[in-house]
Amino acid sequence: MSESPVMLVTGGATGIGRVIADRFIRGGYRVHVSDVDGDALQRCAAAMPGISTSVADVADVDAVNAMFDQLDKTYGRLDVLVNNAGISGPTAAVEDIVPADWERTIAVDLNGQFYCARRAVPMLKARGGGSIVNISSNAAFFGFPLRAPYTACKWAMVGFTKTLAMELGPFGVRVNALCPGSVEGPRIDGVIERDAATRHKTPAEIREIYARQSSMRLFVKAEDVANMAFFLCSAEGATISGQAIGIDGHTESLSNWLD
Ligand code: NAD
Repeated sequence: MSESPVMLVTGGATGIGRVIADRFIRGGYRVHVSDVDGDALQRCAAAMPGISTSVADVADVDAVNAMFDQLDKTYGRLDVLVNNAGISGPTAAVEDIVPADWERTIAVDLNGQFYCARRAVPMLKARGGGSIVNISSNAAFFGFPLRAPYTACKWAMVGFTKTLAMELGPFGVRVNALCPGSVEGPRIDGVIERDAATRHKTPAEIREIYARQSSMRLFVKAEDVANMAFFLCSAEGATISGQAIGIDGHTESLSNWLD
């Protein structure tokens, strides 16, 4: 009998990453979850027996290398990398963003995806195929006032994705970016609260503005993102690579200064 495939999701202890981990477990994968938050990772491991875990800050290249060394030792193979770990970064006008906050956002949201991809690629090539899914955002399609570092990273991820798709296509490795809209959960609640404070509006008003950004007037569920990630890595997704796929009920705009 052939061994089950192995997947790694970063930032998978909570939020969208955890739902992605769950989807791949149900799909028959052996799942490795990493996260910078050791306590959240312990709670995740307790709730998902059978997963392996590592505490790793994706912005720390040494921690990422140690994580991949451990993964290689444990499984000796990798079939799927989901680059999910990300932070919102500051909500502020560009002149009010301090360089340390800019740099931390780039370090986690962009450098982290590179540090993980550069270690995953030789393992995927060794398998003769596989998949990388980079979690970007609908902010990759628009300007997004007050979120300059986050938006710069999410656009950069699309360029990174398309370039890797070209480099790795001949090796049977597919690379795609997922671009969710506002996903229900604690993270978007925090984003809304910060946005409300910055714009002197109530959280309910900001939530309404966010919903109206989508043609379908919706917030996304983490399961929607997880299902698409799983599909892209399955045999049904075998011809899809180099795409930035919106999961957002079609975002029309993120520029709502006048609202
Ligand atoms: P979340 O904040 O709920 O969870 C993120 C997880 O990543 C947490 O467990 C956190 O501990 C971990 N993490 C944070 N920094 C890390 C680091 N440096 N190294 C390793 N792990 C780290 O966020 P989420 O909503 O689940 O978002 C996941 C991804 O989806 C992010 O890349 C985010 O930008 C993207 N996204 C989210 C939304 C949304 O509305 N929530 C929309 C579009 C895109």
